[in-house]
Amino acid sequence: MGAYEIEIERTSSPKEKPQGEALGFGRFFTDHMFLMDYDAGEGWHHPRIVPYGPIALDPAAKAFHYAQTAFEGLKAYRTDEGRILLFRPRSNLARLNRSNERLSIPPIDEELALRALKELVRLDRDWVPSEPGTSLYIRPFIIATEPALGVSPSRQYRFVVILSPVGAYYAQGIRPVSIHVEPDYVRAVRGGLGAAKTGGNYASGLRAQEGAAEAGHAQVLWLDGVHRRYIEEVGSMNVFFRIGDAAVTPALGGSILAGVTRDSAIRLLRSWDVPVEERAISIDEIVEAHESGGLKEAFGTGTAAVVSPIGELHWRGERRVVGGGETGELCRRIYGSLTAIQYGRAPDPFGWTE
Ligand code: PMP
Repeated sequence: MGAYEIEIERTSSPKEKPQGEALGFGRFFTDHMFLMDYDAGEGWHHPRIVPYGPIALDPAAKAFHYAQTAFEGLKAYRTDEGRILLFRPRSNLARLNRSNERLSIPPIDEELALRALKELVRLDRDWVPSEPGTSLYIRPFIIATEPALGVSPSRQYRFVVILSPVGAYYAQGIRPVSIHVEPDYVRAVRGGLGAAKTGGNYASGLRAQEGAAEAGHAQVLWLDGVHRRYIEEVGSMNVFFRIGDAAVTPALGGSILAGVTRDSAIRLLRSWDVPVEERAISIDEIVEAHESGGLKEAFGTGTAAVVSPIGELHWRGERRVVGGGETGELCRRIYGSLTAIQYGRAPDPFGWTE
């Protein structure tokens, strides 16, 4: 068997699939998972699909102590004809390697990883739900497994892919949310880990998210860590504003994750001749645009929800309703176009699905 041959061990005890109960997000997992190991000297080896289950790690494994990890999130969608489409998987795998680079994790072979995702989804295809708005969430991740407490890059890793059927994000229709603009905590700084998809970024965001939730808000709008003025992201989504006729989104300056949905939205907007500006946007500019009536829409973009309209922004004790608290036209149009491509209901001029 060649090094790049994916070995398959099928489960002998398939699980009950969730029936009728709300799938929610990331609560149920399929019958199989993909594994591959890395050892210094040997490189990445032994790609295999095995029954889903716990993995045993030495308590000294570096991932537990120094958070040397990277992950991805993408989805597979079932079309009306029953075909299964992955949305831009190559973009996610390229981003995984960019995260790896930042975390001193050895790069994976993207072609092999793509084959692994496809084989795994094919094997567990009956788990891809078919109700409107549902999908199969794919979570590839890499953890440092060397059992050694010295602070240095691990000499051993494991690459894992797990699959989770997820429910419709907007079963009750798209609903604009209330957002807390965070004055104190920051998510990431330039030169730090913000542009990488790594666990520590999410751990560092939890406290602010908890505070916002206690105050009745859905998410946090993150400002930059130096000036505490420039807008970065909203929760774990990229953020867009419609100011006048232009769609404005923070430029990727090293502290922001390069969202695949962000890139897809920008390309769609440009194909519709909507001017897109990727640049620094301060919270003061947003306040001024709100006061002058120029702020028409605000929304987040990300794999989980596709878009999430912002109905109100809370900053320095003031509540600012955006777009009359309704879902804006650009947000709605991006949602409609992206989901139509994802579910194979519209032509795919960009070649995003496979
Ligand atoms: N920012 C952060 C911090 C995220 O975790 C995500 C979700 N991956 C995004 C933005 C949106 O990225 P994508 O569109 O690729 O899901």
